[in-house]
Amino acid sequence: MPDIGSTANPLRVAIIGAGPAGFYTISNFLKYKELTVEMDLYDRLPTPYGLVRAGVAPDHQKDKSVTRAYAKSAEQPNVRFYGNVEYGKHLQLADLQAHYHQVIFTNGAPTDRDLGIPGEDLQGSHSATDFVAWYNGHPDFADHQFDLSQESVAIVGVGNVAMDVARILCKSYAELAETDIADHALAALKNSQVKRVYLLGRRGPAQAAFTPPEIKEMGELAEAEVIVPVEEARVDAISQQYLDANPDKNVEKNIGFITDYSRRVITGKDKLLTLRFLVSPIEIIGEAGHVAALKLAKNAITATADGAIRPSATGEEEILEAGLVFRSVGYQGIPVSNVPFDAKKGTIRNIEGRVVDESGEAVTGLYTAGWIKRGPVGLIGHTKSDAMETIQHVVKDQASWWSPESPEEEAVSALLESRGVAFTDLGGWHRLDEKELSRGAERGRERVKVVDREEMMAASRGESH
Ligand code: NAP
Repeated sequence: MPDIGSTANPLRVAIIGAGPAGFYTISNFLKYKELTVEMDLYDRLPTPYGLVRAGVAPDHQKDKSVTRAYAKSAEQPNVRFYGNVEYGKHLQLADLQAHYHQVIFTNGAPTDRDLGIPGEDLQGSHSATDFVAWYNGHPDFADHQFDLSQESVAIVGVGNVAMDVARILCKSYAELAETDIADHALAALKNSQVKRVYLLGRRGPAQAAFTPPEIKEMGELAEAEVIVPVEEARVDAISQQYLDANPDKNVEKNIGFITDYSRRVITGKDKLLTLRFLVSPIEIIGEAGHVAALKLAKNAITATADGAIRPSATGEEEILEAGLVFRSVGYQGIPVSNVPFDAKKGTIRNIEGRVVDESGEAVTGLYTAGWIKRGPVGLIGHTKSDAMETIQHVVKDQASWWSPESPEEEAVSALLESRGVAFTDLGGWHRLDEKELSRGAERGRERVKVVDREEMMAASRGESH
């Protein structure tokens, strides 16, 4: 038998999840010119690009330009896209073992963390990630309802997702209409009554998780102005001491913007965005089953023995009226069928991308990259080096790859067809993409997304719906 990875016996890899981590897995593999690799890229949606399509905010089209590089990878003759195929449902681990030498899980962190406080299940309390998926036209979220008749909205957390949600709530119809925001979201936001948006950070300005371009943008909104209470904008002594010892340009820039906003005078724009610090929600208060307010505990900054900077309740409390609450405290990975999982971290159990069992032993043939490997942190670019680390291990492990019984290219398609799985391919994605772009062009918009799964599949088959 010729060596695996030779032209006569290509290395066959299944990649589960067609988001950034899936595409950086492909581009990193392509750097190994001496290896002949065949890569099958699976996604449970009929579309590729994961969070670049369903997570990156529609008014941040520049951040979506990475898809041009992804599209080039997808067009390589040794790469195939299987859309609308879900690992664990349509394909099991044993199926992959029968057709590939290895599998790389790049399926991301699809859900969110909760706050664990009373009232979280009230109507009007949502996860920010649901709202993001809804306004981005993810087919599984298109039917969600958000009560935008409320005037006051609280967003818990001060990361970049919280910034995205606040911006989308504060932008005007005209600003949103140019983007590829889902039609149903554009229509709902057109009638939005939201006037006040509160962003709630549990620690201080020096610990804000957003990045400088995102906080800068908040000060430049056409129809909303931003303020920060002066006393909450101050950097406390413990944080200052930490910063002096560990200078950080991004933190300094963040503090600069926050200080600027704390000095701004309200001019009376249509919407007011208030950025708060040192407050933790301890209860969501309801009225007739619907969110009415948040009970906030005020915090002071303390340092633990190991130097970690934590919020500590001062005992003072406050009621903040809000009819809609979004918790934006981070994404969360969920277990993947038949793959060791670290429930505490919400990641596949792994060491540098090699999947390991509880004893730390590598599990033959299983690898991971992206958020399901390292947790839901970091910008898109960070995933590139993360995927490279994994691929380096994959290549080193040559002696212990699986030995598939049916490595032929067509065997997987035949299996899916025999199971009645309606899958799509790259050509199908191109047809759907063209449909969305041409609908957008007709209406002077970036793109008009198809959000119904059946309609997406019909468009990918070239049928009009
Ligand atoms: P994140 O950056 O981890 O921010 C989570 C926020 O929630 C932090 O402010 C955190 O505060 C707070 N938090 C956590 N638990 C809390 C609790 N129990 N009570 C109150 N607050 C709590 O998460 P994310 O915003 O979901 O973003 C995920 C990743 O995607 C980040 O790396 C982000 O930069 C990236 N992203 C980037 C962009 C962009 O580039 N424009 C857009 C979206 C997302 P503590 O710090 O105190 O824990």
